[in-house]
Amino acid sequence: MFGGAILAGNNQKEIDKRRTFAIISHPDAGKTTLTEKLLLYGGAIALAGSVKGKKTAKHAVSDWMEIEKQRGISVTSSVMQFQYDGYCINILDTPGHQDFSEDTYRTLMAADSAVMVIDASKGVEAQTRKLFKVCMLRHIPVFTFINKMDREAKDSFDLLADIETELGIETCPINWPIGSGKEFKGVYDRIRKEIISFTPGSGQREVEATSIDLADAGLDALIGADKRGKLVEEIELLDGASHEFDMELVRAGQLSPVFFGSALTNFGVEPFLKEFLRMTTSPLPRETDSGTIDPFSPYFTAFVFKIQANMNKAHRDRVAFMRICSGKFEKGMDVYHVQENKRMRLSQPQQLMAQDRSIVDEAYAGDIISVFDPGVFSIGDTICEAGMEPIAFQGIPTFAPEHFARLRQVDTLKRKQFIKGTTQIAQEGAIQIFQEPGKGMEEVIVGVVGVLQFDVLEHRLNNEYNIDIRLEGLPYQYIRWIENEEIDLSSLQLTSDTKIIQDLKGNHLLLFTNEWNITWAVDHNKELRLSESGR
Ligand code: GDP
Repeated sequence: MFGGAILAGNNQKEIDKRRTFAIISHPDAGKTTLTEKLLLYGGAIALAGSVKGKKTAKHAVSDWMEIEKQRGISVTSSVMQFQYDGYCINILDTPGHQDFSEDTYRTLMAADSAVMVIDASKGVEAQTRKLFKVCMLRHIPVFTFINKMDREAKDSFDLLADIETELGIETCPINWPIGSGKEFKGVYDRIRKEIISFTPGSGQREVEATSIDLADAGLDALIGADKRGKLVEEIELLDGASHEFDMELVRAGQLSPVFFGSALTNFGVEPFLKEFLRMTTSPLPRETDSGTIDPFSPYFTAFVFKIQANMNKAHRDRVAFMRICSGKFEKGMDVYHVQENKRMRLSQPQQLMAQDRSIVDEAYAGDIISVFDPGVFSIGDTICEAGMEPIAFQGIPTFAPEHFARLRQVDTLKRKQFIKGTTQIAQEGAIQIFQEPGKGMEEVIVGVVGVLQFDVLEHRLNNEYNIDIRLEGLPYQYIRWIENEEIDLSSLQLTSDTKIIQDLKGNHLLLFTNEWNITWAVDHNKELRLSESGR
């Protein structure tokens, strides 16, 4: 599209050096520690431990909301930019707590690749599985960092098998560990055919790499005779049986390069970063309603993937985060908000560096900027350069909530306030609200992806809208949209604990307490068609 025009050379270079990725993991696998180490290499922060001062007085750069401070966890996702080795890196931060939210999923919509951190003593865990599923939805490359090798780990082959069977992606180890825990000696780099030795307690950034043939008897001195025997055997097995490295499969999200290391002791982090940056892509083209848009297009385009309310309590502000998909953004430029059909100027465009938020003068495809939102943006909206033929990016899917509660206001005189508060918070995409047929908006069912969102909702309704509410947990776990709306709802055969509800667009849905009931409903209503995501 756009007659194949592309940006001028310098701008092209800027885009070409960008790498925008998210780090995903189950809580405690080491995402924060790895992020810290990566930022250190970029010189973005002077001191480890300042990404998220979970247990210290320091608060993370991404901890804006009061509730986050109180709990010492990160509820929302932000982005950190730093330069390393000629690359401009944007790390999208995703909440690490198990009460993560839809924001986590949406953030993955803005990434071009993902790094999946796995605890070597645990393997694939529940939240890894969920986040991985979203990566697969987008077919983005997923790189695996198997962390905590300085602790007793599961068998390395078992870990690979776990990833392959649990997640359904092929794996290709780029390096291979030599022992684990107290016996951890380092890794063997399969590409360079080098042993990178681990020295406990050193925490050195510079690693000691010894280029050596596995048949060389000098290996005995390096890692011990028994370890050498095992390593030689395992590498032979890998060379014969594991998937060969294939960049195309990696880029298509079908093959995950695997790295072993230890973020805490800083072992294997930099070699991983170097290899990762080489293998991952610069900003990818994106689909729009009028075809694919190239990141190198001369026109600025972006989409909103996250809206954050009240980052500054004194101002009651709302901030929209957008991912730039093509071209170059310049401060003060005129843009066009496609969904609202309005020309506008983006006010207070900001970019997050590791520590600070600063006003951006220019930003490129691959970057994330945040702008002041006077309440006009919605998740998934497209912004493009004024003057170009408007386009719209494919929307961000609605992810199925997994926790439900009935929400009532305590003071019925504040009806208007209550409806305003709940609908605004729903618009921002922090919660989803549903109605029971025949009931008004004074009592709604709230659905969330992570249970912490209930606390956030209560806190915000109290603080921002001055309303007291009552939340009553409901036993539902699964939600399905009814695809064939013409179906006669009153004739549906459902188990007594299945509930019919409506979303705000008037679509009908079913709430189930367990998977068995979904199967039951499908088996007993031949004409019923259900879908897992909303329209
Ligand atoms: P997150 O919840 O995934 O962000 O995990 P954190 O980075 O906060 O790490 C959870 C815990 O594991 C912390 O106590 C870390 O110090 C520890 N940890 C992280 N990486 C390693 C590692 O490589 N080795 C060991 N032994 N501990 C680690």
